[in-house]
Amino acid sequence: MVPAAALWSAEARGFRAGAARGDITPELGTMIVGGFAPIQARHIHDPLFVRTLVLDDGRQKIAFAICDNLGLPREVCDEARRLTAERTGIPASHVLVAGTHTHSAGSARPSGPSAERPGGALIASTELNAYQRMIARRVADTVQVAINRLAPARMGWGAAQLPGQVFNRRWLVQSEALRRNPFGGLDKVRMNPPVASPELLQPAGPTDPEIVFLSVQSTTGRPIALLANYALHYVGGVPAADISADYYGAFAGRIEEQLSAEKQDPPFVGIMSNGTSGDINNIDFRAKRTPRAPYEAMRVVANEVATEIVGALKQVRHRDDLTLDVRARELTLGARRPTAEMLARAREVLAQPAGATAWHPNEKIYAERVLQMADAPNELTIPLQTFRIGDLGIAAVPCEPFAEIGLELKATSPFAKAFTIEIANGYFGYLPTPAQHQLGGYETWIGTNRLEVDASVKIVAALREMWAEMVPPP
Ligand SMILES: [Zn+2]
Repeated sequence: MVPAAALWSAEARGFRAGAARGDITPELGTMIVGGFAPIQARHIHDPLFVRTLVLDDGRQKIAFAICDNLGLPREVCDEARRLTAERTGIPASHVLVAGTHTHSAGSARPSGPSAERPGGALIASTELNAYQRMIARRVADTVQVAINRLAPARMGWGAAQLPGQVFNRRWLVQSEALRRNPFGGLDKVRMNPPVASPELLQPAGPTDPEIVFLSVQSTTGRPIALLANYALHYVGGVPAADISADYYGAFAGRIEEQLSAEKQDPPFVGIMSNGTSGDINNIDFRAKRTPRAPYEAMRVVANEVATEIVGALKQVRHRDDLTLDVRARELTLGARRPTAEMLARAREVLAQPAGATAWHPNEKIYAERVLQMADAPNELTIPLQTFRIGDLGIAAVPCEPFAEIGLELKATSPFAKAFTIEIANGYFGYLPTPAQHQLGGYETWIGTNRLEVDASVKIVAALREMWAEMVPPP
């Protein structure tokens, strides 16, 4: 544990905060990217935003820009951070740009034939398309607006438990038929098995039921912003052609209402960031699913998360003598490569006539991906980032880590409290542990999964080193 006194500064030059949001709703007709088959947007249920918080300890500023998007590729995040640095002077290393992981958003992936598939987009396009440029500009705009709104502030963090809305979606199941993979083999686990099935044995991993939040207020106690983190994938229940920010957007509205912060100038900004939810969703696999109206399930989640936070907020001690610290690092990892057997089978599968009996319904999609990956680079370099705000630690990872990775980081952090923001500063696919790779399942499949099997071990080690560097001397 860190000596508490060192985390705050007696000669603090005054803690300030500002928040803003900017619209990133794409035009109708844009492709919605969250499923296997992209579909054109025909309706906007609720607009998409980038929600931004800037903190300033008098020595340096940091910015969190959380975008209603499935996952922003590195080139978009890099451009957003570069533009922000150019316009505001906040170094790119001090700017976090993350997706919320709503599946009902416009694609921020490169334009092109392979670009719209989850886990696809292996060919990096050199020039950003119009929507990618719009997101990057809006990130920089909202950071600028938040800076314009900087005012003396105090901040505290809190935590609450909400176990009832998170479920591990990877299950050990009896039936072999449920465990077929698109490579002609059998896995040990099944992602999203049929609900309430007698085939279900047990979940293959834990959940993280904790909501961690940071609450930012004016010196008179007026709410400025609240940034929360919960390890839950998108909730869905969105009609196929609708654009929606999912529970992340619903939460922003709900927390604003619950804090009675609706009519403020400058406006309050509620922000939900995505925790380590690579294997977590909102489906109670043991129970029979109750039919829900569109958008109902996400409203329930948003309301429960907001209610838990408002309850926990009473215990939070806000203070104005916080200091900030940041680390950023590039980590080079091996890329998954298909074996000779996989390549041979992929060619076989693609040579099958249409309508031939398939071992797995998506085997042709994966066969194409396997062939594409034969030419992919051997290594991938990913951006890692960590923050310290007083005695709170934050890690940012450009992947969808499994919940157990977030739990390990929380348990071993040198800070009083810590959490991880996923799909931050880029998107490099799911991040299972090596043990979860052994179990197989959708998230580990080559073509969905891009990083070497040991990637999580190397990423956790690097983040812990970066956190350790930020522990101030006693
Ligand atoms: Zn997803």
